[in-house]
Amino acid sequence: MGNPKAFLTIGRKEAGYRPVQQRKTDFAEVELTFHDEECRTQASRCMDCGVPFCHWNCPLGNRQPEWQDAVYKGNWREAYRLLQETDDFPEFTGRVCPALCEKGCVLGLSANAPVTVRNNEAAIIEKAFSEGYVVACPPHTRTGKKVAVIGSGPAGLACANQLNRKGHTVEVFEKDERIGGLLRLGIPDFKLNKNVIDRRQALLETEGISFFCNAPVGADKKALKKMLDEYDAVCVAIGAGEPRDLRVEGRDLKGVYFALELLKQQNRVNAGTEVAPEERISAKGKRVLVIGGGDTGSDCVGTAIRQGAASVLQIEIMPKPPVDKNPATPWPQYPQILKTSSSHQEGCERRWSLDTVRFIGENGVLKQVEVAPVTWTTDENGRMTPQRAAETEILDVDMVFLAMGFVHPVYEGLLENLGVTLDGRKNVAVDSDNKSSVAKVFAAGDASYGAGLVVRAIASGRKTAAAIDRYLSTLK
Ligand SMILES: Cc1cc2nc3c(=O)[nH]c(=O)nc-3n(C[C@H](O)[C@H](O)[C@H](O)COP(=O)(O)OP(=O)(O)OC[C@H]3O[C@@H](n4cnc5c(N)ncnc54)[C@H](O)[C@@H]3O)c2cc1C
Ligand code: SF4
Repeated sequence: MGNPKAFLTIGRKEAGYRPVQQRKTDFAEVELTFHDEECRTQASRCMDCGVPFCHWNCPLGNRQPEWQDAVYKGNWREAYRLLQETDDFPEFTGRVCPALCEKGCVLGLSANAPVTVRNNEAAIIEKAFSEGYVVACPPHTRTGKKVAVIGSGPAGLACANQLNRKGHTVEVFEKDERIGGLLRLGIPDFKLNKNVIDRRQALLETEGISFFCNAPVGADKKALKKMLDEYDAVCVAIGAGEPRDLRVEGRDLKGVYFALELLKQQNRVNAGTEVAPEERISAKGKRVLVIGGGDTGSDCVGTAIRQGAASVLQIEIMPKPPVDKNPATPWPQYPQILKTSSSHQEGCERRWSLDTVRFIGENGVLKQVEVAPVTWTTDENGRMTPQRAAETEILDVDMVFLAMGFVHPVYEGLLENLGVTLDGRKNVAVDSDNKSSVAKVFAAGDASYGAGLVVRAIASGRKTAAAIDRYLSTLK
């Protein structure tokens, strides 16, 4: 804490966004990165609290007060050293993490102006790359143990990185054409530029990790058995790929899509993949309805706007959350309050407490959606129940994106043929070491606890790697 009065004299300032009129015409990243001096100034606001709730709130246990101090003192190399000790990929979390740390910042409680942690994290890692502090560090010796990681999302990548550092030979198998999981194909380019993943992949490969893309594992029982025989341990990091569906009348009409159908295709198109015109999901000139008020829905909003939608409406069945504070989630918890994303600011209407009754079409093509207002009642146990109003409303729409979350990992293929036990929510059941019911098979990330966050996936990948390392040390 180099400047003990900075928190009294300097206000919070975020890195900010490109102007709306400019950014909504392209898919480039919308958020800016701090210049050195801005980052130092904001870092000086950290009070180095006796109990750092920022650290406590971060699933990775990032040591924010320590690296904020290093930044303030202009010691960027040290800031990077501290950051990378706990966070394998600050270039991902610095861009897309909802900054659970900032919600626990004491300056958030006392002045409603927490220290800018996430923006500083992004600035540190970008500075580290540009100054050449980030260099490949392959292990000095190899243990002779071999691990297969199935899935290359943030959980799989973190697990692979940690095991490789311990000297184990790590091979990552990915069913899609490129690594990254939802970082690559789910999260839009305007939130996370995919060169950032390529840059990290090059580093991981130089350090000795092998990646095999277009390599789905599990459907072929014989090949799966061979894998289990050949490797000393296997980490299942396949994500929670089963989307929540809305099985109402008209669901099969042309024009009703899952959110990821849109987002994956747009990310692929941005990467240069050619899509046949009849397969192209484009909102150009269309009236778009996004069902689901969360982050995936917001990504659909931003994507539809960039594609040139005539209008975008986002609806949510839950009531509108409070704007500033929510007594149900007091500090330092993550507040359940109204979130307005950069995509929402680009031009979208939002409505709450609306249920979808049915999709209405003509000749198999979506034309309208019938929605009904709902009122919510809460019983003595805090359980909320919706009550649909009798009077409904018809919305004229051309396209619907279902963004209601993901329920669990895909069972068919890998999990079915592995024969792993599932938990009550159909995720891979794991013990406190993230070990599954099948010998030498571990699980990490969304596959083991359901849809979550990038930061939690990295934390889970690290935890699983540590457990696999302990397990490998027991083998001859
Ligand atoms: C649209 C969208 C936006 C999001 N935005 C954010 C955000 O801004 N911030 C945030 O923190 N979180 C966000 N999330 C959540 C976050 O992306 C996930 O929680 C995180 O990526 C989970 O990591 P994972 O490694 O467990 O799984 P995933 O990222 O899902 O990766 C799993 C990988 O396994 C591969 N795979 C599956 N089956 C097989 C198989 N049989 N063989 C080989 N490979 C297989 C998949 O192709 C995939 O590449 C978002 C999610 C979505 C859908
Ligand atoms: S990973 Fe997320 S919660 Fe942790 S310090 Fe970074 S922004 Fe904060």
